[in-house]
Order: sequence, then structure tokens, then C-alpha cells
Amino acid sequence: MFKRIRIAILLFILVSVAIGTWQANKRVHAWKSTLYVTVYPINADGSQAAAKFIASLDASSFAPVEEYLEQQAHEHGITQPQPVRVSLGPVISYVPPPRPIRPSIFEVMRWSLSIRYWAWLRTPATGIRPDIRMYALFYDPAQTQVAPDSTGLAKAHIGLANLFATQSMQGSNLVVLTHEMLHALGATDHYDLGTGLPVFPDGYAAPNQSPLYPQAQAEIMAGRIPVSETQADIPPRLKDTLIGPLTAREIGWPR
Ligand SMILES: [Zn+2]
Repeated sequence: MFKRIRIAILLFILVSVAIGTWQANKRVHAWKSTLYVTVYPINADGSQAAAKFIASLDASSFAPVEEYLEQQAHEHGITQPQPVRVSLGPVISYVPPPRPIRPSIFEVMRWSLSIRYWAWLRTPATGIRPDIRMYALFYDPAQTQVAPDSTGLAKAHIGLANLFATQSMQGSNLVVLTHEMLHALGATDHYDLGTGLPVFPDGYAAPNQSPLYPQAQAEIMAGRIPVSETQADIPPRLKDTLIGPLTAREIGWPR
């Protein structure tokens, strides 16, 4: 009898979670009302530089992301004003579990579950429940030259962006943050995982341009501006990127 009750409770929880995920997915991909994104800063290396930079952040720090997504959404047929609202959330003083290096599929699954659990446990409640939770992990650039890989989890609507704690890098920080945010919305990478080079044509901002090189902008999910067949540069600002047709379709934009 107890066993049956226990199974019934477990089934109820499973079905509730499945319905909740389905509803959240439907809302995120409908683009009928403003999506709320909250950015939670984290001092990733416990440095003074990261603490100082985090203290300097305010509501306007992520405004360029909001403006960029609004302008790009309108290019792709979304008519609603302010499709995304990005706000600064409280600082989190716990670092998420690190991503395994060269993981197996099983390790990736285990890590993705541990991130969800960490986010559930460590994210403080805010006035508006965000549709997308972005964790901005800041590193002192004097100690870390290459930040660890960032991640966006589409089903969980969670993004982890590894960023540099300096104003001079804030432009490329916002590119990384937006790239991961788009992963959290269902977009995939449009670069070659082996070479890191943008994939033609979907990873090119202007695939029909002649001559093809150098390109002036990056497709945001390709992450780099192709300057020749074998070379691609990191875009310094969001203005140096655009959202291409494939990324737009992947996140549910209509045109
Ligand atoms: Zn990516």
C-alpha cells in the first residue's frame, strides 16, 4: 500500500515537472510577451578585481543586450516592443560546479543535472520570476588569460557566462552573455567545433557578400568574424554581430 502511494507521489512530481517544463518552453518560444532575463553576478576566482567590477555593475550594465535583442527581433518580424527585459539580480556568493574537461555524454548529463540543482539551491528569489537565469562569472584578467568555456542549457533556460572583470572587456563580455542566453533559448552553435571557425553559410553574417572575405560582422552563434578562409576574429562589441536566419528560427522568431 505504502509502495503504491510512494509511486503515485513520484509519478505526480514527474508529471508536474514535465508539464511545468512544457509550459515554460511554450512561453519562451511564443514571443508574445516580454521575456524576463535576470543576470546574477558571481566572483568566480575570489579576486579583488572581480569584487570591484561586480560592485560597479548597475541596471544599465546590460541595457545594450536588451537594445540589441529588440533591434534584432524587429529585423526578424517580431513586432512587440521590448521582447526581452534584462535585469541585474543579486550577487551569488557560491560558484557553480565546474564543467568537466573533455567529458563523456554521461558526465555531461550528470554535470547538467548538478547545474540545475545548484541553480535551484543558490538562486535568491527576486520580485519577478525570471524566464531565463544567466549566471555571470567574473575573473580577474591579470590572473586568467583564457576564460573557461561558457554554457547555455536550453531545456533548463539557464546560461553560465565566463567573463572578464574589466570595463575594457565589457563589450565582448556582452557578446558572450548574449550567445549563452540564445543557447538558453534553444539556439545551437554555428561554428566548427574542431577549428572554431564559423560554418558557412549559417555562421556568416553576410553569406552572399562578394568577395566573401573579410566579413564586417559575426553571426552571434558562430561567435567570430570571418576575415579569411582560415582566420576569424572575436567581435569586440554586440554591434559587430547579428542574429542570422537559422538562429532566429531556432529561438522561434517567425520570419
Ligand atoms: Zn555556444
